[in-house]
This record gives sequence, structure tokens and C-alpha cells, in this order.
Amino acid sequence: MTLLSDLRQTLGNENVLEEPLELYIYSKDASLMRGEATFVVFPQSAEHVAAVVQIAGRHGMPIVARGAGTGLTAGASPTEGGIVLATTALNSIEIDSDNRTAWVGAGVINLDLSKTAAPFGLHFAPDPSSQSACTIGGNVANNSGGAHTLSEGSTTSHVLGLEVVFADGEIVVLGGQAPDAPGLDVKGLVVGSEGTLGIVTRALVRLLPIEPDVRTLLLDFPTVEAAVTTVSEIIAAGMIPAALELMDQRMTIAVENWLHAGLPVDAAAVLLAEVVGEREGVDSQASQIGEIGRANGAGDVQIAKTEEHRALLWKGRKSAFGAMAQLAPDYYLHDAVVPRTKLVEIMRTIYEIADRYELTLLNVFHAGDGNLHPLIAFDASEPGVADRVHKAGEEIVAACLKVGGALSGEHGIGLEKRDLMRMAFTEIDLDAQARLKEVFDPTGLFNPRKVLPDGSRCFDFGGVRREVPEGAWI
Ligand SMILES: Cc1cc2nc3c(=O)[nH]c(=O)nc-3n(C[C@H](O)[C@H](O)[C@H](O)COP(=O)(O)OP(=O)(O)OC[C@H]3O[C@@H](n4cnc5c(N)ncnc54)[C@H](O)[C@@H]3O)c2cc1C
Repeated sequence: MTLLSDLRQTLGNENVLEEPLELYIYSKDASLMRGEATFVVFPQSAEHVAAVVQIAGRHGMPIVARGAGTGLTAGASPTEGGIVLATTALNSIEIDSDNRTAWVGAGVINLDLSKTAAPFGLHFAPDPSSQSACTIGGNVANNSGGAHTLSEGSTTSHVLGLEVVFADGEIVVLGGQAPDAPGLDVKGLVVGSEGTLGIVTRALVRLLPIEPDVRTLLLDFPTVEAAVTTVSEIIAAGMIPAALELMDQRMTIAVENWLHAGLPVDAAAVLLAEVVGEREGVDSQASQIGEIGRANGAGDVQIAKTEEHRALLWKGRKSAFGAMAQLAPDYYLHDAVVPRTKLVEIMRTIYEIADRYELTLLNVFHAGDGNLHPLIAFDASEPGVADRVHKAGEEIVAACLKVGGALSGEHGIGLEKRDLMRMAFTEIDLDAQARLKEVFDPTGLFNPRKVLPDGSRCFDFGGVRREVPEGAWI
């Protein structure tokens, strides 16, 4: 039987796409890189996923898992061709309010989980800005963070168990309700593995109580340095706010022009701070944050008076990437992380790099975590600009590593940063990671040529190192 007839017989014609336009749509995520899907499939159950994995193995065809395709590193782009396995139909949610947990299908949209848990007084803490679209499977695969990662940790802190289909087509459950399972932490390994070890079909996640009270503050600053210094001083004062998010002036103007969220456009930077807990606690922390801000030159310290006002401020922050469309047809977003105490230094370096390459750069980021998101606005049709954008991006990443940072704070490596892995890891580190991948995926079925650069296995050293495929960048 051909691959197509195998897939159709197992999943039904309606769950297999093969038309060129349909394949085109599923050949790219939210990054600037495109692949070429051979087929797109929509398994309706974990058993279907297992069957697709076995079929792909028989036909030697790669499989790329896809949630909502909001990833920013080409993780879900089938740049080596193959079957794109869309998890859309794996959308069950089983809340266990007594245990404050839920078994959640990989295709469930992040925000839908919190909406379903809300009547039980619970929510799912990881809240990527893309939460109205991205899936739990994508969150697990990328170990995603969000504005509230500062106090609650990223996705890995909230995953108790996983149901995974490995390369032999077996459905395996890792972890479970009981804390601290003995033995090697294979679940921990799968979280953040970006679809390179297996396909996650369900996740057992921790749910947290909805906090009784919240204060959301907006502070404006005369300089970016004053804003980031405030961030460090808030943490040094012993507080861990739920969120500390920063936007520079260019970003604030772009958001205001679009959404009119009430952000001050004349300030060099604005800081959105949120504290949660009991009423007395949040009031006292809010006033302390205000004092620290004023001591660093904050002109105005607003506290959201109503839930609508709070929601509008967050809408402004979470829609920042969308606001980029006003400035240029394309943008390139970098995700890197530095120790919080290095924020002042790194922000100066980042602006200097953008100026040197004559690029328009905006900043909006999870300042409390030191997780930077410099955005470069450009027009890809302008000759030579894409080259400058990539060179500036690489310099930004190198500068972050130099001050003790990491390649990615939350978006993962995918294809985008695969070739930068050598900046952060030695050949021995990469070889160890490649060996681990081989244990789970001996034939390289899952998301090939993502995360690890070519030649990561020691026996490959000296061999041909293939570049990112021609035409992958748009
Ligand atoms: C506007 C915008 C804002 C964003 N804000 C944030 C943010 O605040 N924080 C943050 O961390 N990220 C953010 N992101 C990035 C992105 O939304 C996250 O990485 C998200 O978790 C990806 O989920 P997805 O369902 O879209 O996954 P996809 O893009 O479909 O896939 C991402 C990766 O996960 C793999 N994968 C997907 N599902 C599975 C599965 N079931 N099993 C195994 N592997 C799987 C894919 O192969 C791919 O490697 C943002 C993106 C956009 C466009």
C-alpha cells in the first residue's frame, strides 16, 4: 500500500489533507521559515497517533507534530518534508478539582483550559501571550513561559504526567498524580524536546487556585535603564510579583496607535507589574513597587481601578507582536535570556547593535525573568536587509551568552537557532544530546534536523554540515 492509502485507511479520507493549498498552509509556523508538507493528518485519538507513527516508520517518512503553529522558531515547519500531524482533534479536558489537576489533550488551546477550570476556582498558570491560540502540546514541547512565569515557573513546573507515542508506536504514560516518581525523569526530558523525541497526546497538568485579589500597576520611566533597574530592585526587596513586563517607547507607541490601551507614549519605557494574593498583601506590595519606581524616576504610577482597565492593559502587552504590522511588513523576533542583573548592560548593547546595522528595533519583554524579546521591523523585499537582520540577531544572541545568558528563554530552538547551538554547547555536550535523541528515535523519524545542529554526533564530525535548507527563510 502507498503511504497515502495507508493513512486514509487508518484515519479516514476526511482526516488526511493532500491538496497543494492545504499543504502550503500547514508548511509554516509563525516564524520566517517555510517547509513543505507531504501530507497533513488529523488523528482523532492516541491510538490514531500510534498508527500514524507506525505507518511513517514503515515508509521512512518524517513526522512533524503541530499544535496551533504559533511557534516562532520553525519548530512545526516541515523543512525536511514529511507528515504534519496536527493535534487539533485531541481536545479532551478532564478536570480533577479534588487533586487540582487535569488530563488535557495535546490539542487543547491554552486559554480554553483556564476557562474550563475557572468554575472550579482553578487556572493553568503558564500564560504565553499567544494563549488564545497555542496548544498544551505546543506548550509542553517548547516548555513555554508567559507573563506569569516569574512567580509560577514555566510549563515544566506544571506538568505531572504525559501520555506520549514513541518511535515504535507504543503509547506510554510517564509520571502521574503521585509526586516525585522514582527513576530517571523521562517526563522532564520530553518537556521542551520540541517534538524530536515523540508525540505528546495528553498531559496531566497542575491547576492553581485563582488568586483572591490582584493589583496591576503601570509605571512610566524617563529611560529604559531606570525601568530595568526598578525591576532588579523590586526582586532584591524580597518580592516576587506575578509579572514584571517592560515595553520601550517605540513599542508603546505602536500598541497605542492600534489599541488605545492608555499607555503613556511620551515615556522612554513602561513597566507593567502585577501582584496577587490576599488584599492586605497586594496593597502593601503595590505601594512598595510604586515607591521603588518613583525612587528610580517613575513619573506616574497608575493602579488599574477596574477589571476592564486591567484587561485592557494586558491586552496592550499581549498584543504587542501584532502591533508590529504597522511599522513594516515583516518582523524578526529574538528570544534570549540574561541574568536580571545584566539587563541594563544588555539593553544598551542591543540598541547599539540595531543602530550599527541601521535597523528599527523595538523591545517588549518579560523583564522579571530577564527574558528579552528584541523585535526588528523590516521589509524583506528590500535588497540586503534580511542579511543585516540575521547578522544583528546573531550578535544579540552572542552578547546575551557573553553575559551569562541562554539561547532561548521560552520559544525554543527549532530550526531558527539550531546552528547557534554551537555558541552555547561544546561538541561533547551536543554529542550527548544527539545520543539521547537516538535512544528514543533511532531512525530520526520525529522532527528531523531541528534543535541539534548537523554533525552533533561525534562520528559525524568532519562530515558535510548542511546549512538551513535553501529557500526556507522567506
Ligand atoms: C503573538 C505570539 C506571542 C507569543 N508569546 C509567547 C510567550 O509569551 N511565551 C512563550 O513561551 N511563547 C510565546 N509564543 C510562541 C508560541 O506561541 C509557543 O511556543 C507555543 O507554546 C507554541 O504552541 P503551538 O501549539 O502553536 O505549537 P506549534 O507552533 O504548533 O509547535 C511548536 C513545537 O512543538 C512541537 N509540538 C507541538 N505539539 C506537539 C505534540 N503534541 N507533541 C510533540 N511535539 C509537539 C512542534 O513540532 C514544534 O516543534 C508566542 C507566539 C506568538 C505568535
